Amino acid sequence: MTEAKRMDGTLFSAKLRDTLAGHVRDLRDLHHVTPGLAVVLVGKDPASQVYVRTKHKRTVELGMKSFEHTLPEETPEHEVLTLIAGLNADPEVHGILVQLPLPKHIDAQKVIEAIDPAKDVDGFHPVNVGRLAAGIDAMVPCTPLGSLMLLKDRLGKLGGLDAVVVGRSNIVGKPMAQLLIKESCTVTVAHSQTRDLPAVLRRADIVVAAIGKAEMIRGDWLKPGCTVIDVGINRVEAPDGSTRLVGDVNFAEAVKVAGAITPVPGGVGPMTIACLLRNTLVACCRQHHLPVPAV
Ligand code: NAP
Repeated sequence: MTEAKRMDGTLFSAKLRDTLAGHVRDLRDLHHVTPGLAVVLVGKDPASQVYVRTKHKRTVELGMKSFEHTLPEETPEHEVLTLIAGLNADPEVHGILVQLPLPKHIDAQKVIEAIDPAKDVDGFHPVNVGRLAAGIDAMVPCTPLGSLMLLKDRLGKLGGLDAVVVGRSNIVGKPMAQLLIKESCTVTVAHSQTRDLPAVLRRADIVVAAIGKAEMIRGDWLKPGCTVIDVGINRVEAPDGSTRLVGDVNFAEAVKVAGAITPVPGGVGPMTIACLLRNTLVACCRQHHLPVPAV
């Protein structure tokens, strides 16, 4: 039996970052503009600290400017809003990302809505959510955008394919569904109240799993030859106490049925940061009224 092809997000994202670095050099040499990304972290959540460090490293590697704002856990909401207003007005900052989750006393939606939609590189501002839903140019959330790039790399045109997105969160499931609608897929969005998920999945040419439940999707729920994007990142403990990361799809089973699948780690994860940098470049070009490169 032939095993599914692994869709290598580490390799794809490295190539994408190389391409972006070329565009950043051109912007600097031809237009004397350097894209800048500001990342705001409130508190000391260990996972968030790791994400912010990686984002900073990748931003600088690409030749972009990185502005890090780390605020103490107890920072009042109005101070975060004042910082955002300053970043909105700063011409060196083209993209603003507020690392989520925020401490409980801060209204995350209020903070997201304070970001200038033109600088909203996470694509979470209602203006960008609405633009994406309307099928017009928008800042697209990074994880769904990276997932779509992997799908197109594997399948070319997606028109007419049956796609099932499992999960309806604002950051992954819903924008993923919008992107697939725009690609002319026939899209089903499944969630915790979906009846008979295996039956829904068995007719899918494309499965996007964004659930947050370790290895929930079994191999025999999949249509033979389908393409599986596993967005899930779940840490599980082995009997010896060591831990490892797994996706929302049972990889060992799925690899025997699917035509192609993203591994966890090394699939969608690395695409997310590459797409954040891509969105920052796009935001910079738009703010300077320069042509936006096709990346
Ligand atoms: P989320 O906000 O918790 O949403 C999970 C979704 O899964 C919800 O819509 C929920 O349905 C649905 N769900 C839960 N149990 C289900 C079940 N038994 N059957 C069908 N659907 C079920 O999670 P998220 O933020 O979208 O993240 C999903 C996963 O992706 C997590 O593992 C997260 O760590 C990972 N992630 C990875 C990246 C990356 O860069 N690779 C980025 C973001 C997230 P209801 O709406 O009905 O509750």
